Amino acid sequence: MTQPAPTLRDTNLDKLATLRFDVLVLGGGINGAVSAAALAARGVRVALIDRADFAGTTSQQSSNLAWGGIKYLESYEFRLVRKLCRARNKLLRSYPSSVQEIRFFTSVARGFRHNRFKLWLGAWLYWMIGGFFTRRPRLLSVRDIAFEEPIVEPNGLAGGFEYSDAYLHDNDARFVWGFIRAALDWGCVAANYVEALGSTRTKEGWVTRAREATTGRELSISSELLINACGPYADEVNARDGISTAHRHVFSKGIHILVDKLTPRRRVLTFFADDGRLFFVIPMGGKTCIGTTDTRVERPEVEVTPEDRAFVLENINKRLRLTRPLADSDIIAERCGVRPLVVSGSGNGGRDWTQLSRKHALDIDAPRGRITIFGGKLTDSLNVGEEICAEVRRLGVVLPYARRRWFGEPPKPVRDEYFHQANLMALDALTSPQSTEKLSSRLWRRYGREALGLLEAIRRDPRQADVIIETSEYIRCELDEAARREMVVKLEDFLRRRSKIALVVRREEIRAAPGLREACRILFGEEQVEEKIAEYFGREAPAWTRTRQAASGLD
Ligand SMILES: Cc1cc2nc3c(=O)[nH]c(=O)nc-3n(C[C@H](O)[C@H](O)[C@H](O)COP(=O)(O)OP(=O)(O)OC[C@H]3O[C@@H](n4cnc5c(N)ncnc54)[C@H](O)[C@@H]3O)c2cc1C
Repeated sequence: MTQPAPTLRDTNLDKLATLRFDVLVLGGGINGAVSAAALAARGVRVALIDRADFAGTTSQQSSNLAWGGIKYLESYEFRLVRKLCRARNKLLRSYPSSVQEIRFFTSVARGFRHNRFKLWLGAWLYWMIGGFFTRRPRLLSVRDIAFEEPIVEPNGLAGGFEYSDAYLHDNDARFVWGFIRAALDWGCVAANYVEALGSTRTKEGWVTRAREATTGRELSISSELLINACGPYADEVNARDGISTAHRHVFSKGIHILVDKLTPRRRVLTFFADDGRLFFVIPMGGKTCIGTTDTRVERPEVEVTPEDRAFVLENINKRLRLTRPLADSDIIAERCGVRPLVVSGSGNGGRDWTQLSRKHALDIDAPRGRITIFGGKLTDSLNVGEEICAEVRRLGVVLPYARRRWFGEPPKPVRDEYFHQANLMALDALTSPQSTEKLSSRLWRRYGREALGLLEAIRRDPRQADVIIETSEYIRCELDEAARREMVVKLEDFLRRRSKIALVVRREEIRAAPGLREACRILFGEEQVEEKIAEYFGREAPAWTRTRQAASGLD
């Protein structure tokens, strides 16, 4: 009998154990992913491991916003706002189909600490600092709000204003996956579910002991330099390796809930919550995402508590005019994570916790060839990639293609060719009724130039355009693509991160979908269907609330 062909992940595991790398990146959240993509594109021999799935920790729990940090104007951090606005603009320019401008329709209550004119002027300043890149801010009267967004409760409002920022159309985890996939395309050797157990500096460089989570196989990975991009776990990883740093993390917990769509208009409804912080109602596909909270916690392992849920529901019910208030039973899914916030030395973030800004810092241990990434945002990710390249070069690694562009969607001729072909075959007629957008746009955004291959698959066999999990919009050839190129190890990797099914379809509906088994057959092969389904549904609590377990791969 012939052996099944090895998967990309199998091959990469073997390479991790046998090759020597210039750089090993620990952690495949946004910071690790951009580091690997930038270095690999510039010709560095780079490897990346994550003990859970890529983006399986903090980077799947964000508000999905690429924003210039309007709130930091209040603390006069103009340079930070300028930097973040530029980073946002660069993302908007580079990823026109996945990072899109969106209006923030902001209501201001009477008696709020700033009046609406002052806030509106602040929005103008923000617009100017952002280089006039987006649409102009607008002042809103209570009448404007009531007319344009009848869902907003007008009683008690002084009026409002509207300004622009950007959001990630698919979501954060898919955005991160794009960088991992790009890194793989440039030759990076990456694998998920491989935990770094400890790294030792020898005369030749770093040796990292690692364990593959599904089989328990242990391997040692050799590299010249080491990048610790373990997000909220970066301090623990450094402490275990005996490394001390000038920075460290403190943690702020934030949650979001997903409910049925609240307003048909594609905009972010923005409020100031009872604690004075910005509070958002954000579109996510055909659903609405509401949040977030900001609670100081000591440890990164967090879950949504009844108090968190009550805070979000109470705040939103007060600010919206709904036919009936939202309740626990309306929640389709929840998101919960900690923001790893960087502080220097033994500082604890100062008096005003919620004002602690979300900068990033690189801590360089030049003698030992080790870099730790602290803090950061999805918004600032392209800068992190560039800074990492500069530091790696400074530490002595040659970047053979030092000026090569490592990010962005494929160029216009490829895009034009794709849409021309999609048009010729009337692809959009196959759009699922569940979908909130045309099939051609969705495939382009998710797969870039690979989408041309998907068109070919549909031309060959029109059944490739069938929706597989009935309540979602994903079609057969996308599952094939995921099985072949997206390193899906667990069902959750596909449902929660490569796609957003687990965020927009209720768990019971996914479980009952007749197509679920076929989806698993395509992803994992016939023999593993029941095991993968049991692994996903066997848990008592939904996986996204159990960061720690997922992170250790022990679910
Ligand atoms: C509620 C909330 C809302 C937010 N909203 C926004 C927003 O709207 N816009 C924005 O730009 N940012 C936002 N952020 C911030 C942003 O999400 C984070 O700063 C960012 O995702 C951190 O990425 P990271 O790569 O540093 O960490 P992570 O994503 O946590 O990645 C670290 C990785 O390291 C892995 N790891 C840990 N230990 C090991 C080990 N021993 N071996 C191998 N791998 C290991 C983990 O499994 C994990 O995947 C938000 C954050 C939160 C919590």
